[in-house]
Amino acid sequence: MKYRHELYPMLSVEEALEKVLAMFHPLEAERAPVLETLGRVLAEDVVATGDIPPHANTAMDGYAVQAADLAGAGPESPKRLRVIENLAAGYVASERVTSGAAIRIMTGAPMPEGADAVIPFEETHQDGALPGSAWVDCFAAVPVGANVRPAGEDVRAGGCTLTRGTRIRPQEIGMLAALGYGEVAVIRRPRVAILATGDELVDVDAPLLPGKIRNSNSYSNAAQVLQYGGVPLMLGIARDTVEDLTAKIRAGLAQGADLLVTSGGVSVGDFDVVKTVLAAEGEISFWRVRMKPGKPLAFGRITAEVDGAPRTVPLLGMPGNPVSTMVSFELFARPAILTMLGVQNLRKPTCEAILDQTIPHKDGRRHYVRVRLERRADGFHASLTGDQGSGILNSMVRSNGLAIIPEEWDRAPAGARVQVLLFEAGALPPEHES
Ligand code: AMP
Ligand code: MG
Repeated sequence: MKYRHELYPMLSVEEALEKVLAMFHPLEAERAPVLETLGRVLAEDVVATGDIPPHANTAMDGYAVQAADLAGAGPESPKRLRVIENLAAGYVASERVTSGAAIRIMTGAPMPEGADAVIPFEETHQDGALPGSAWVDCFAAVPVGANVRPAGEDVRAGGCTLTRGTRIRPQEIGMLAALGYGEVAVIRRPRVAILATGDELVDVDAPLLPGKIRNSNSYSNAAQVLQYGGVPLMLGIARDTVEDLTAKIRAGLAQGADLLVTSGGVSVGDFDVVKTVLAAEGEISFWRVRMKPGKPLAFGRITAEVDGAPRTVPLLGMPGNPVSTMVSFELFARPAILTMLGVQNLRKPTCEAILDQTIPHKDGRRHYVRVRLERRADGFHASLTGDQGSGILNSMVRSNGLAIIPEEWDRAPAGARVQVLLFEAGALPPEHES
């Protein structure tokens, strides 16, 4: 179909996001080494094959005893026991604890047979050397089970410890290791092809000839892909021609991309060919969103023949300006990647903050304003990090969040409360941050 502007209305951020997400679903599972599963979603229930801990063991450095032997012991009336062995963690006692005997034992060592409690070093005094002549005075009574960690106290054999659908954090990784899972089934990482467009672009290490600028978008977008758990496929730079763009997009599909992200070439300039290619090679869903920065944002799908069969892949055509492309990525590519990863909660961490400056705002679009959040006595404050032009990457660098100015507001006065999307997941700024 030939692309025609007027066929596509400008959508709200929510309408656009709904259309984007309708084209994504969780990808297949694969088995991955446990350390490569951080941030990913479990695709199987993890059942404990044994107890954790696997054996009853001591929670303290001390003496394994029969609790009955210490009945009536106190600071003025110690009970004396024979020390028959010295047991480190990682070893099994060769002796049995009988009445009148004790085994010196270190935290984590398995409880010796016959012992039913541990008295900590702090309550004892030992004299004489092992083997043979050692004895210990115990200055306290201990109940049966004192300082003993029973087998299975953490996890019981046969129990489902982690359920399918769980997003893996460091604590889940620790649990998998404790259960003996060197590998586990998780949803695979999406492959996201990154393609810059523009005759003006040169790569990061190429000389800057007259009229040229460096391609930064491919790098910031690829970093966002990595941050959200995808695998970036770097497709380089396409020239502003239908032929070159089509060829590079087809190459991305052939490399097995699950999503194509382009930057630039989606506006109404004479050489903005992304929409033309999207219409010719697939289908445009929308190309304008009521937001700033990032109004021109094309979304649709591309179909190409790969290994003799047609393959259809969603394409997000980000605007070219370096901040617009990053903000659009946060709003649309991030949830798409998370959906492919099987993540349920797509909300970006936000916090409420008080605006420190008045922001003029009259154009009916939702503004995402680069701010620095700071914690003060009355809550978080958000102050602008400088020029908000969509090409000013520097104010992005200085910011730690994006304040959302709703489209209905005429202006955002200083003192207004706004929601701020946080760049670092879960990381609120500390008090008195400079
Ligand atoms: P466009 O949307 O293609 O008209 O690009 C808008 C602005 O973003 C222009 O000033 C471009 O030079 C700039 N731009 C486009 N692509 C990139 C890129 N990959 N890296 C840095 N700037 C870019
Ligand atoms: Mg361009």
